[in-house]
Amino acid sequence: MKPVEIWLRDAVARAGFQNAGEFASRFDLKPYRLRQLYHAAAKELLDSVSEVSTLPKALRTAIAECGVALCAVEPITLQRSRDEQTLKALFRLRDGNEVEAVLMEHYGNRTTVCISSQAGCAFACAFCATGQGGFNRNCSAGEIFDQARFFARLLAARAKRITNVVFMGMGEPFHNYDAVMDAVALLNDPNGFGLGQRHITISTVGLVDKIDRFAGERLQVNLAISLHAPTDELRSRLMPVNRRFPLGELMAACERYVGKTKRKVFFEYVMLAGVNDDAACAKELARLMRGHLYHVNLIPYNTTPDGRFAATPDARIWEFAAILDAADVAVTVRQNMGRDIAAACGQLRGTVERNRTARRAADAETVI
Ligand code: SAH
Repeated sequence: MKPVEIWLRDAVARAGFQNAGEFASRFDLKPYRLRQLYHAAAKELLDSVSEVSTLPKALRTAIAECGVALCAVEPITLQRSRDEQTLKALFRLRDGNEVEAVLMEHYGNRTTVCISSQAGCAFACAFCATGQGGFNRNCSAGEIFDQARFFARLLAARAKRITNVVFMGMGEPFHNYDAVMDAVALLNDPNGFGLGQRHITISTVGLVDKIDRFAGERLQVNLAISLHAPTDELRSRLMPVNRRFPLGELMAACERYVGKTKRKVFFEYVMLAGVNDDAACAKELARLMRGHLYHVNLIPYNTTPDGRFAATPDARIWEFAAILDAADVAVTVRQNMGRDIAAACGQLRGTVERNRTARRAADAETVI
């Protein structure tokens, strides 16, 4: 399916149409009119159909009235970090589900947007706020794409643009494989949003069958694996998915991926104090990584409200990195951004829910 068709399929479905054909015939729209709508969203980053100046005014009104809109997500909370480098949004979807996305403005002109592929997550990683909340539903390609479009619009007002998109928000991208691939096509379309594939990263808990499928896509999109532990015993405790796809199978899939694509695999390793951050873990991790086209990214942990895990102190993270480095493993420590606005996966939704509960409790008191 072409990007324009993917976008239209989603936009008209949200308004209750069976397909783009039904929508087009309702308003007697020629294909170029449909392309104008898509262009207005993907390239001009417009907010509402009423702004699409290429369409006659009466047509704009008619389209808007039937419920077809350029935006699939509505921002309901925006939080800016004190250093102003991180902006976190909580979006409401049409059916009331909520997802989060984060914009990070790095020094220089690099800007990264972290987007969600699902409302909730089914994989229940022990340290992750989203995982603890359970799974609600998949996002559509349009809902995923629109999170990036929202931030692109904000940046455009300051003559900036998104340089990188990472699928590291809520949800497991490979558990919503088709919509994520469609969203990648929308992000990448040279006639639309125009973000290069090499600037897109998909992060997965390690679904082996999907890694193999992804290797066959002939894309230049980066693959990141959430590893977090170098042994099956520890990884199964932190990530239940490891019982289904143990380390041996996961690492074999990564090797097949590198063999087929010649592309590097990135491994994320969140540093949990006293859990996975000692020298023995570092050595074990080095053994898994050494000699392959792999790169380890150590992630400082953002503590979550349940307080089950604590963050490894920075000095210890650097010691851990030094052990990997000494073993000739490529390693970086992720720059921590937005800790003061709880910018890790699922944290904003958690906060808003707690506030709502608190408000409800307060309301109840007033009533009584
Ligand atoms: N399901 C995918 C993508 C979403 S999570 C995956 O697991 O890769 C994106 C990354 O953020 C993962 O590596 C995840 O383990 C990490 N993460 C989750 N909660 C975190 C927290 N509280 N602090 C730091 N990183 C966290």
